[in-house]
Amino acid sequence: MLIRPCCICDDMSYFLNNSIARKLTLVLLFTLVVANVAPTLYIPSSEASTGHHSKAKNDGTGLGEGAPGYINHKHVTKSVHPKSSSANIQNGCNCVIFRLDDVQDYWLNGIQTTVMDQFIQKNQPLSLGVIMAYTGNDAIIVNKVNQGASLGLFELSVHGWDHVDYSQLNLTEQTSTLQQANGAMKTLFGNYSNVFITPYDTFNDNTLVAMNSLGYKIISAAEWADNYPRYIADGRSNIVDNYGIYHLPESIGFVQYDNNTSTRVPNGQILATVDSEIASQGYAVITLHAQDFRQKINGAPIDVLNQTEIQDLNSLMKSINSKNYHIRTFNQVIQFKQGIGTTTTLASNDGDSGHKETVTAKVLSVAPHEGIPTGTVTFGIDGISQAPVKLESGKAVLDTSTLPIGQHSISAQYSGDAKFIASTGTTLIVTVKQTRE
Ligand SMILES: [Zn+2]
Repeated sequence: MLIRPCCICDDMSYFLNNSIARKLTLVLLFTLVVANVAPTLYIPSSEASTGHHSKAKNDGTGLGEGAPGYINHKHVTKSVHPKSSSANIQNGCNCVIFRLDDVQDYWLNGIQTTVMDQFIQKNQPLSLGVIMAYTGNDAIIVNKVNQGASLGLFELSVHGWDHVDYSQLNLTEQTSTLQQANGAMKTLFGNYSNVFITPYDTFNDNTLVAMNSLGYKIISAAEWADNYPRYIADGRSNIVDNYGIYHLPESIGFVQYDNNTSTRVPNGQILATVDSEIASQGYAVITLHAQDFRQKINGAPIDVLNQTEIQDLNSLMKSINSKNYHIRTFNQVIQFKQGIGTTTTLASNDGDSGHKETVTAKVLSVAPHEGIPTGTVTFGIDGISQAPVKLESGKAVLDTSTLPIGQHSISAQYSGDAKFIASTGTTLIVTVKQTRE
């Protein structure tokens, strides 16, 4: 028997706006998990960060009524932030990432595994957003995830410990739950993940701080929720935020969820979005949910597979491949490199007589290639990024004479240019001495 904690589901907004109640919720969930009571599950009214579930009744399956409004997303197609680059990318990754959100035990598990099977059967990669608190006891889910992972097709991403709005959590809560989620990932599936697909698509600065401290490298939210510089898969850039995190937000959903309605996005519209995203940033991200593939009766979803939608997914994948785009995981996309490799090395002078104290970053092409890289180097001083410095004859210089006395760590990130691939220098520790010129 499945038990759904209705107090949590029925009025999420109350809990999100009430930190004490939220803590109680977390305690309740932890208790259920620790006690190994019938598994709790997240009922995806999916990414509705400010919305709340309709009063879906517990019908004994734990799945609710599927009444209109049951799926209550906040995805809004129109409100997309402008991209950091509007130029067309030449020879980019041409990649499409499918992310399957809300992977969890005992919830539409036949549909979840059917979607996963489409990728396994065609030998295509898929990134799974796994809700870690609700995963691990359902052999149907766990075995299928392991099957795809062992074939090297599935990338396992963390979709929260609990499916909560991370922007409503403080730094300590975000850090502890992301750590807990990855601990469970390691225990269950053997490896830590470096990808965080944010529940409800939202996050804040603290999310990035927490991710940085825990070794996460990639965040996938929604375009409307992500104002950070976006990763560009042109094979040379290495765009990260100030926390060292890559941002690869959702481009479009297979189904678009707005408040009380869900709308299947026609494949033609998805493909048009994929085209424009690939032209401007080298890749696109398509979100899937198990509930996208449910049958509907009079508009109300029932928990039975909709074979037509599965066929539509197949034809979408086929169209993507026939355009010579490649289906890839988040990690594969950030590892896409094209161009001539470079090395960035840092050296400091001693600040001895007559010289200013400086750190020089030297960018060289990797042998046997020749040529002098252009572009910029962004220095970091004690973790704080400075304004980019233009390379002159492959070198960029940072004046450190104004730094306080003591030790400082200096980092350098080469931007890459049209020909040369970005690279990062090894952090250099410089000691600013007491007596200066
Ligand atoms: Zn979700």
